[in-house]
Amino acid sequence: MAAAALGCGGGWRRAWRCGLGGPLPIPIPIPVPIAVLVPAAVPVPTRRPPRVVARNAGGGAVPAGKSGLAPWVPVVGLEIHAQISSNSKLFSGSQVQFAAPPNSLVSFFDASLPGTLPVLNRRCVEAAVMTGLALNCSINKKSLFDRKHYFYADLPAGYQITQQRVPIAVNGSLTYSLCINNKMSQMVTKTVRIKQIQLEQDSGKSLHDDSRSQTLVDLNRAGVGLMEVVMEPDMCCGEEAAAAVRELQLILQTLGSSQAIMAEGQLRVDANVSVHHPGEPYGVRTEVKNINSIRFLAKAIDYEIQRQIEELESGGTILNETRAFDSKLGCTVPMRDKEGMQDYRFMPEPNLPPLILYDTKSLPANVNHQQVVNIDWIHERLPDLPSAKRAKLVELYGILPEHSFTLVNEDGLTEFFENVVKQTQMKPKKVIGWILNDLLSYLKQHSCTVKESPISSVLLADLLNLLEKKEISASAAKQVFEELWKGEGKTPLEIVKEKQLQLLEDGEELEQICQAVIDEHKKEVMAIKAGNQKVVNKLIGLVQRATQGRSNPVLVKQILEKKLSE
Ligand code: ADP
Ligand code: MG
Repeated sequence: MAAAALGCGGGWRRAWRCGLGGPLPIPIPIPVPIAVLVPAAVPVPTRRPPRVVARNAGGGAVPAGKSGLAPWVPVVGLEIHAQISSNSKLFSGSQVQFAAPPNSLVSFFDASLPGTLPVLNRRCVEAAVMTGLALNCSINKKSLFDRKHYFYADLPAGYQITQQRVPIAVNGSLTYSLCINNKMSQMVTKTVRIKQIQLEQDSGKSLHDDSRSQTLVDLNRAGVGLMEVVMEPDMCCGEEAAAAVRELQLILQTLGSSQAIMAEGQLRVDANVSVHHPGEPYGVRTEVKNINSIRFLAKAIDYEIQRQIEELESGGTILNETRAFDSKLGCTVPMRDKEGMQDYRFMPEPNLPPLILYDTKSLPANVNHQQVVNIDWIHERLPDLPSAKRAKLVELYGILPEHSFTLVNEDGLTEFFENVVKQTQMKPKKVIGWILNDLLSYLKQHSCTVKESPISSVLLADLLNLLEKKEISASAAKQVFEELWKGEGKTPLEIVKEKQLQLLEDGEELEQICQAVIDEHKKEVMAIKAGNQKVVNKLIGLVQRATQGRSNPVLVKQILEKKLSE
């Protein structure tokens, strides 16, 4: 009973234990050339590049039609495949690993050998429940598995196991923020409804070798667990879609349910796009498939909106077709049309019983906890989500909301910031300036992650303490920062001593330097005496230069003003 709860009842379990589903002792002799499956060359569009799409993020403003009649309303709905972060595949024990040698992670089940049976991976179920809860979904206590049939070389069974009829999670929402007019300080918050999240198998990979007219198949990815997140068509431009996907990516990474690295294909987005006039039914949609970068997602959607508007305005029609985004050309190109609707011949998966989940109330007595998934238990252990983290940062440290976005966006930056704050007397509002303007820009310049930073939080805190205690000036601190970046193992204090960057507080020495600057800049002195006080800053700058940035600017200003009024 308990085992059946996870969809892996005695019968299935026995089949598994016999070794039928275990990893292959020897690799199957593929990559296999499948010459018949070489795809036709993708047609290159002959149309001219589109006009730039009017940005309509953050409001209902939409690109106006050329005809000058009613404006167009773009509609965008996303379907997102997130690879579940798990040690083994959704229904087999083979390992999940990116970039392993081709066909080295393939069990008999993954290769669809007759007699093999699926055994559901508990970790994948938990990841989907966790994700559903984080996206405010209702979790279905009973969900079903179905077969979706299609013929392709990288799908050896001829069908994919998915959840078409009753998915594991439904009716959720995702709240995300985006900045208007590219200004971080003007942010709007939006919500997109989540229709459902379903568990399904990933396919293998077909590698097309055009030069030899061959297609090679790698089944390492075949059977890896996916969560498909289906969003309602609530968005209206590329920028909104990009912001929503970025937020989803952060949530998945925070939960650990998916690593969601787009470059590794762990997060793949299909964008559905249509346009219509206000008050009219939604237009025919196209689907841009498999976009694996957030930047390309925004570009693909904006291109597609503009293409559809131009098509309709010139009297054409939109085909319900699948398109691909060509990142080199910056446009979408047709892949196949959906008019002759593909028949997937959906049917219940006979080898998997319904997936039953429990909450604390419905949990049977004396149940083996290893064999059931308790939704409440997962709920109680959900980590702080990015939105909650940002709110806490703003409240705790008094930093600006837009700065909290940057902190949460960069992996490890929040922890770095908090560690510095803990170890320095400098106010968090000042620390954030050093983190964002100095540390982050150095990291970006050198393409480093926070973890790779040669300056640790301890070193930065030490440096900021010297500045806070007025032992060095701000410009000297920048010099120390630059030295620290070299990663030579010196402490800020050692660098200050070595480079003699201590703040010059010696009044007599400063007086002499100020006098020299005044003597050498008669023109400036006359300007100041004539009432142009701004020129004083120039003299302060000159004194700073003469002291290699070591002088205390407040003291310098006092001395200069005193001398000039004499
Ligand atoms: P289907 O069953 O044909 O796949 P769905 O209702 O599941 O259709 O929707 C698939 C995706 O298409 C969803 O992400 C949804 O938001 C989006 N979508 C549906 N209608 C439109 C439309 N008119 N314009 C843009 N996107 C749409
Ligand atoms: Mg669908």
